[in-house]
Amino acid sequence: MTQQTNTYIPSYLDTENPGPWGIFLEQVDRVAPYLGELAPWVGTLKHPEKILVVDIPVRLDDGTIAHFEGYRVQHSLNCGPGKGGIRYHQDVTLSEVMALSAWMSVKTAVVGLPYGGAKGGVRFNPRNYSASEVERITRRYINAIGDFIGVDKDIPGPDVNTNAQTMAWMMDTYSMNAGKDCPGIVTGKPIAIGGSLGRVEATGRGVFIVGVAAARDAGISLNGARICIQGFGNVGSTAARLFIEAGAKVVAVQDHTGTVYNPDGLQIDALVEHVSTHGGVSGKPNVQSLSNEEFWAVESDILIPAALEGQINKSNANQINTRIIVEGANGPTTPEADDILTNKGVTIVPDVLANAGGVTVSYFEWVQNSANFYWSEEEINQRLETIMDNAYNAVSATAIEHQVTLRTAAFITACTRILQVRELRGLYP
Ligand code: NAD
Repeated sequence: MTQQTNTYIPSYLDTENPGPWGIFLEQVDRVAPYLGELAPWVGTLKHPEKILVVDIPVRLDDGTIAHFEGYRVQHSLNCGPGKGGIRYHQDVTLSEVMALSAWMSVKTAVVGLPYGGAKGGVRFNPRNYSASEVERITRRYINAIGDFIGVDKDIPGPDVNTNAQTMAWMMDTYSMNAGKDCPGIVTGKPIAIGGSLGRVEATGRGVFIVGVAAARDAGISLNGARICIQGFGNVGSTAARLFIEAGAKVVAVQDHTGTVYNPDGLQIDALVEHVSTHGGVSGKPNVQSLSNEEFWAVESDILIPAALEGQINKSNANQINTRIIVEGANGPTTPEADDILTNKGVTIVPDVLANAGGVTVSYFEWVQNSANFYWSEEEINQRLETIMDNAYNAVSATAIEHQVTLRTAAFITACTRILQVRELRGLYP
């Protein structure tokens, strides 16, 4: 019999190099001591419930046939149907999709949504294919996973390199196969086919809501507070606008083209305009530009990483001069940097809480699709605020109770919720 130790790696992954799934297992091990009587159930978090690997054969524009690897992983369906995006990237692996699905279980449980965690991916770079090839890959992939997903089983959404148009093709393919309209099969759709008002801004708005709460707890007044933001896309630019409306000033913004700085506060509307015409913040007139290293050293009250994974790491963590980090991006802080910053007294609001506004409004989209009744943007924003505030308060109370960081507290809160449901439901048969 195979012994299942704490570090059990399934036979279908490389036991020497388990990849992102190995990181998730370590995170669970760190939380296990705080799970009390639920500890015997912790193994359910370490074993994804269902994994589907599919072949996607597609005829390319030049007439040849190419095959792509597709995945859909349902990590945990304890708390409701699976929820999680679909990523198109040449580096997608099963281990990565497993880890991302598990982090979705944690994220949906942190904010208390009636969902489990799932994720999907296709291993290819869509930039190397024409729009009609990407459409055929998308449709064949959804056809292949069609029995696995479902409006009340597992609901995909967008992720890296997938967007509202991809969701429209997915919804259409699934609906054609079902012989009826199924708008609730995916979220992040265009408004015209059942998307939700407020979805585009939801993640940045959630970052703002928990940032305000963390500032309040740290005794920082938003009036005149200095904000630095890495990543000026959907999440970063929305958060910037909302913080400025609340009286703060955004002193530095970095994107893939460079860094702009103004100690008196950047004009965000003008910066958005510049980015839309020039593709990035670089070259913006009437502001100072800084090097990559200088960006991380800018003194601020709140730093918002809203770009990529691993941006805050041991090479720049010591230079960072802020009081609160609100993680808009997924996985922006490496574990070493996390320790360095925590020891420096920086509060980090973790991604599984801070960027959960996106999945929360995806949940609203799904509810509206089921009810065929659509809410106003004001109702959506109010409901989002209530959910994000409640989640922040629960995580913060857990952090104080156990004297742990907000990240560990978020995992304790989420894993406790998932395992309580697991225990109540019991094992069948
Ligand atoms: P986006 O594509 O709209 O914007 C990404 C931004 O990051 C751009 O400004 C880009 O220039 C910048 N960037 C890219 N590479 C960079 C680099 N090397 N250095 C500095 N900046 C760089 O993406 P988004 O939707 O705003 O997502 C940002 C992050 O938030 C991602 O980690 C994403 O996974 C996460 N997230 C997004 C959502 C959502 O609803 N959009 C939800 C949850 C998490």
